Amino acid sequence: MSSSDNQKVAIVTGGSKGIGRAIALELARAGYFMVINYRSDDSAAAETLRLLRDEGNGGEAIQFDVTDGAGAEAAVNEVTSRFGNIEVLVNNAGIVADDLFVFMPEKSWDAVINTSLKGFFNVTKPVLMKMVPNKRGAIVSISSVSSLIGNRGQSNYAAAKAGLNGASRAISTEVARLGIRVNVVAPGLIETDMIKDAPVDNIKEMIPMARIGRPEEVASVVRFLCSDDASYITGQVISVNGGMF
Ligand code: NDP
Repeated sequence: MSSSDNQKVAIVTGGSKGIGRAIALELARAGYFMVINYRSDDSAAAETLRLLRDEGNGGEAIQFDVTDGAGAEAAVNEVTSRFGNIEVLVNNAGIVADDLFVFMPEKSWDAVINTSLKGFFNVTKPVLMKMVPNKRGAIVSISSVSSLIGNRGQSNYAAAKAGLNGASRAISTEVARLGIRVNVVAPGLIETDMIKDAPVDNIKEMIPMARIGRPEEVASVVRFLCSDDASYITGQVISVNGGMF
């Protein structure tokens, strides 16, 4: 599958399922040629590609681990040489490894930070290096309500996602004059595999809308932030959480 000459290219990390899949489909409907990244679940990636084909624009899946800097840089170079300039990057890949802080193994701390925060660095840097000469681009990263309120048992996750918020704000000031916008979307509880073991009924009590969100409700905000409709919005953290605070 290849992008047509004038089609804009967007890449979504962790785009094979859940929120990332919904974002890929939403951006495809907005006209982007989609490149989805994933880590290991080939069948989920294949299913997302099938759904992208149904949207009419097609797409490509590219497997790499965002914690691997060299692998991420090679993948970004491959995407650019095969499909053209990347106009949109969505940093969505993320994992949880919850524990109370006093019981948290170092490997759980490192795994979560390395995926969300170091993964952000590993992918965003080579993409930005290519956006800068083009003087055009939008970067949206998926953070979490946890970065703002610090959910119990999620010190690693809250730290990683708060890091994303801060890094994105800082980078936004560095590239704003180059026509590149950098924003963050902070979802609350969203119906995906990630929350299959969460005590959803208890958490619902904390949500004014008294329901879990849908991946599409995050994806539509990401699509807006990537579009020219959001041309004066940069450096922001936008919550999508049913009014959690
Ligand atoms: P899922 O677990 O459904 O999907 C995660 C995706 O990330 C998969 O495509 C997975 O690929 C990929 N991924 C994980 N680790 C890596 C890695 N090291 N390298 C490359 N890809 C990786 O999660 P969600 O859709 O629920 O979450 C998406 C994002 O939204 C995450 O950043 C999460 O923290 C955030 N979020 C989710 C909320 C929720 O309630 N669901 C709430 C707030 C934020 P594979 O399956 O192949 O490993």
